[in-house]
Amino acid sequence: MNIIVLNSGSNGNAVYVESPESGSAVLLDCGISRRQIELRLKVHGRHPQSLRAVFITHEHADHVRGLPVLTKLYHIPTWLTEPTFRRMHRNRPWRGHRFMGNSDTVTVDDITVQAYPKSHDASDPVYFVVSIGERRFLYVTDLGEHDDSVAAVLSDVDAALIESNYDEGMLETGPYPEYLKARIRAAHGHLSNLQAVDLIRRHANGRLRTLILGHLSENNNTPEIVRREMDMLLEERGDFRPRVVIASRYTVGDVLSV
Ligand SMILES: [Zn+2]
Ligand SMILES: [Zn+2]
Repeated sequence: MNIIVLNSGSNGNAVYVESPESGSAVLLDCGISRRQIELRLKVHGRHPQSLRAVFITHEHADHVRGLPVLTKLYHIPTWLTEPTFRRMHRNRPWRGHRFMGNSDTVTVDDITVQAYPKSHDASDPVYFVVSIGERRFLYVTDLGEHDDSVAAVLSDVDAALIESNYDEGMLETGPYPEYLKARIRAAHGHLSNLQAVDLIRRHANGRLRTLILGHLSENNNTPEIVRREMDMLLEERGDFRPRVVIASRYTVGDVLSV
């Protein structure tokens, strides 16, 4: 499979996953504008017309901002849970949806997407595993804390995009008010760098060849800190050598062949 991270962060999330065999693709989250999705796909010679479906993790704006315009223009079906839809629908009428349960599997052409429930402050948040042939890709951001489910999945994938949202020290000494700091740290908030490292240290294995760290906070993290933490982890864990990619909040990533 080919993975292109179009954007990753609290300013917008969208990940393009493509089957090289069929040419079909799906989009995981749609938190940047239709225009930006077109432009960023064009960088790699891709077009939204290849998209067979959009899958939504939860209703926060950084995951759905571009959804109504993109899916209406290109007639792309959107898969999401019913509570997520209800929450979105309250603000903005929108059609073209199909419901999936928070543990359901949906197959579109040769692409299979499995949902799993997760801990986050949204109505019915999920994370996804995308399978194409033998290859499996875990996409998990906006995670308050990791649990046995994420751990088990991580030990059985070829690629993963995992949230590494904040550095504990930067959040502690940073400008955010106390209530916001508490919300980020909470079990329904976001995963810190140390929590991400802990998850990977304990549960990733040699099968994981592509490791993407994403949804980095603009104010409470830097790509350099995340890179340093991962370098330290890899030194410790000689048994697995994934390529490590820090997903950008500003620009489209490379085509990652998995
Ligand atoms: Zn988010
Ligand atoms: Zn969120």
